[in-house]
Amino acid sequence: MLLIKIRCEPEELKILRYLNRRKILSDKEKKYYLNLEKGFLGEQLFNEWIEENISIDWLVLHDLLLECNHTIFQIDTLIISPEKIYIFEVKNYEGDFYINTDKWYTISEVEIKNPIHQLNRIETLLRRLIQNLGYNPSIDAKIIFINPDFFLYNAPINAPIIFPTQLNRFASTLNMKPFNIHNQQLKLAEQLVALHLKDSPYKKLPTYSYSQLKKGIPCAVCDSFMSNLTLEMLVCKQCAYKEHVDISVMRNIMEFKLLFPNRKVTTNIIHEWCTIILSKKTIQRILSRELKQMGHGKYTYYVDM
Ligand SMILES: [Zn+2]
Repeated sequence: MLLIKIRCEPEELKILRYLNRRKILSDKEKKYYLNLEKGFLGEQLFNEWIEENISIDWLVLHDLLLECNHTIFQIDTLIISPEKIYIFEVKNYEGDFYINTDKWYTISEVEIKNPIHQLNRIETLLRRLIQNLGYNPSIDAKIIFINPDFFLYNAPINAPIIFPTQLNRFASTLNMKPFNIHNQQLKLAEQLVALHLKDSPYKKLPTYSYSQLKKGIPCAVCDSFMSNLTLEMLVCKQCAYKEHVDISVMRNIMEFKLLFPNRKVTTNIIHEWCTIILSKKTIQRILSRELKQMGHGKYTYYVDM
C-alpha cells in the first residue's frame, strides 16, 4: 500500500481528552467524548489491519474531509485501485445489534443511525465530486465492523458490510486484484488531498473557560497529575512515570495553546497553568528556548518559531 494521506488525531478529540481530566464533563459530553475515542481507536485498528494484510501497492488516503455542492462529508479510508475506488466507513461498535425494517437498534432497543444510509450519502457525494474533477470510476463502498465483539442480527445478505469474521477473506480477494497504479490515479489522489479541508465544522465542544479548568501537568501515560520529584524531574504517583521538567512543561504549553488559541502565552500564565513548577525562571527558560519571544519586559509573550 502506498500511504498518500495519514490519519491525524482529530483536534476535537484532543481537546475533549484535555477537558475530561481538567473539569467534570456532563454525562452527555462524556458519552460523546468516549464515543469519539472509541471511533478513533477503531480507525487506527483498521489502519493497522490494512498495513498488515493488504500487500498490493494501491493508494491509501485516510481521514478525508471533502466538500461537494456545499455539503461537507468525511471518509474514514479511501483506497484507489486500478479498477475502482473503495470507500471504507469504519465502525467500532461492540455488542449485539439488530435490524428491523431498515432501522438499526442496540440489543437494549435504542435506535441508532442507520450506517448504510450514511455510507450511501458519502458515496453519492464522492461520486459527484470525482465526476466534477473529470473522472468516472466505479466506486465500492463498504462498512467495516472492526470490533470482534460485534454482532448484527437480521443483516441482509447483500448489505455493504464487512464483518470482523470476513476481514481475512476480504483481504485475500483484494490481494488477487490488479495492482498497477497509473498516473491518472496518482493524480486523482493528489487532487483529493489538495481538496481536503483541515477544519471540521462539526466539532461539538463543551463550553469552557480558563478559570474552570484544573491547573497542573497531566501525566503522559495515565490521566493523573504529576508531582515534583527533584528540581529537574517530575513523577506521576499513580503510574510512576518520570519525565524531565522541560518535556513536561512543553507538553503542557502545547495543551494550553490548543485549549486557548486566542490567549497569549506568557511566563506568568504558563507558571500558573503548570502550578507545580515553582520557579518562574524555569518556565521562562523553556519558553525562550522553544518559542519565539515577542515584545519586551512585562509585555513579553511567546509564539511558535
Ligand atoms: Zn501516570
